[in-house]
Amino acid sequence: MKVDISDILKVNGASLDVDREEVLKGFDELEDDFVIDMPVKLKCRFTNMGDIVKMDGRLKVDYLVKCSRCLKDVRSSLEVDLEEEFAREGQIEDEDCYVYSDKVVLLDKVLKDNIILNLPTRHMCRVDCKGLCPKCGAELNTKRCSCNEEEMDPRMEALKNFFNK
Ligand SMILES: [Zn+2]
Ligand SMILES: [Zn+2]
Repeated sequence: MKVDISDILKVNGASLDVDREEVLKGFDELEDDFVIDMPVKLKCRFTNMGDIVKMDGRLKVDYLVKCSRCLKDVRSSLEVDLEEEFAREGQIEDEDCYVYSDKVVLLDKVLKDNIILNLPTRHMCRVDCKGLCPKCGAELNTKRCSCNEEEMDPRMEALKNFFNK
């Protein structure tokens, strides 16, 4: 996502409001658990602060994630408040700092960083998801398997047989 900020660079204190949405590519570094192929919605304001350009706003994005317990796909969404600073390209040595050129701010990295940082580590399709049976793989929200019933301590089994005699 590119934003032309050439107008506000001419005047100290000038600002520019942006309302955009765009599909961002390159979320490959994420585990398979997340799929982010929906547009990232951005509403923000860029302000020329002299040495730096400040960005304040909010992003919103929908994504698919696998339930940590039953592995079902769940659609969820994320909103993040943004407060970032951009330095002019070539002006600073700190490589971690976001930069702008004479005309444009490239926002892909700053948006991706904020999204990845704020994705939840665990996601469940519902609060009481029962997950999968570790033995037969049955989805326990909708099915009932007999793994637990069949399983019996061998000592108990011996005792049961003893009393049945
Ligand atoms: Zn689940
Ligand atoms: Zn089972």
